Amino acid sequence: MIDGAAIHALIEELYPICRSITGQGLRETLRIIGGRIPIQLTEVPSGTPVLDWTVPPEWNVRDAFVADPDGRRVIDFRRHSLHVVNYSTPVRARMTLAELRPHLHALPAHPDWIPYRTSYYAESWGFCLTQRQLDALGQAPPDAAYDVVIDSTLAPGHLTYGELVLPGQLEDEILISTHVCHPSLADDNLSGIAISTLLARALAAGPRRRHTLRFLYAPGTIGAITWLARNRDRAARIKHGMTLTCLGDGHPFTYKRSVGGRAPVDRAAAHVLAHAGLAHQLIDFFPYGYDERQYGSPGFRLPVGSLMRGRHGMFPEYHTSADDLSFVSPQRLAESARVVAEILDVLDGDRRYRNLQPYGEPQLGKRGLYRALGGTNIPDLQMAMLWVLNQSDGQTSLLDIAERAALPFPAIRAAADLLREHDLLAEA
Ligand code: ZN
Repeated sequence: MIDGAAIHALIEELYPICRSITGQGLRETLRIIGGRIPIQLTEVPSGTPVLDWTVPPEWNVRDAFVADPDGRRVIDFRRHSLHVVNYSTPVRARMTLAELRPHLHALPAHPDWIPYRTSYYAESWGFCLTQRQLDALGQAPPDAAYDVVIDSTLAPGHLTYGELVLPGQLEDEILISTHVCHPSLADDNLSGIAISTLLARALAAGPRRRHTLRFLYAPGTIGAITWLARNRDRAARIKHGMTLTCLGDGHPFTYKRSVGGRAPVDRAAAHVLAHAGLAHQLIDFFPYGYDERQYGSPGFRLPVGSLMRGRHGMFPEYHTSADDLSFVSPQRLAESARVVAEILDVLDGDRRYRNLQPYGEPQLGKRGLYRALGGTNIPDLQMAMLWVLNQSDGQTSLLDIAERAALPFPAIRAAADLLREHDLLAEA
């Protein structure tokens, strides 16, 4: 349904931008998303209290570098947005390597990778570089003086987030939430952003759905907290949700359950992954990771799980420059988008029916149902029909039936649609 190449192309477009939890990089990202889908932007002023937090000053960076005594830029933000510690305070100084060294971050175990570091909520500054760059700096005479410049501002401004709502027949909502604050990192989380965006575009072009769909693009933690603070009452409309992250890498799927662990979204995700024949693991909720922990906090307790492939912090490329455009593939992105779409289909199609001929099995032949079956190419449809007839007591939902019958949800749903058309089922 969604072309993996199109998802990858959107990731490529967003990749060079230096994003953060506030600032022009975040706005530029939302502007590009807005070129694909009509998102609404919200700007919340710095200093605004949001739940137990405060919207921070806006950070913008124009340039950052360390230049050696010959004026050569030995660390250069223009080459990679990860070179500057995100949210660094401005600096303009001349210092020796010994003075600079506490502000430098490298990864000795992966000497060609640049780490990703942030200094949110604790004013400081720094540079990230490869271990090879750091080793080269150590070759210079110890009294060599370096020009150190971070041309940044931390000033009153705004926090920006974007959202698209696709109204359904119900006010009940399904939330798809992605964090949009990481700079040049492809899997975490341009993969989630691009899949959410192109899925939203595809669904917006399709028929109206039962649930209202809300696609939220907000900076991690503070963005979700800001959204929740501004939608405290409306948040209860969210009946199902997922955060999407790390969906383009080569690892098997991981679905992290919502706090409750048995919400429809948890069951839908488990069902889809099992029937897709894709390697996957299901893990329980823990209060770390992405914004599912904000949505799942006790005051809100929204049933929001998290879909990913590689797990947060568990693969070496995570939060390094190795999470680049080659780390995510169009084929895996397309597969992930399909899984998300199928989970949404299960959530939207799950409902309870009542068998209108509950005394004995209805005679299918005289109603033309066997002929109707012949007109489809859905495997297991006949068995699915018998299951739906048997289980539709007004209490048991189609997902309950699919789980019990060990049949894919689309077959159960197609059987229910057919039975309804032949007046054998009514919505409970
Ligand atoms: Zn991250």
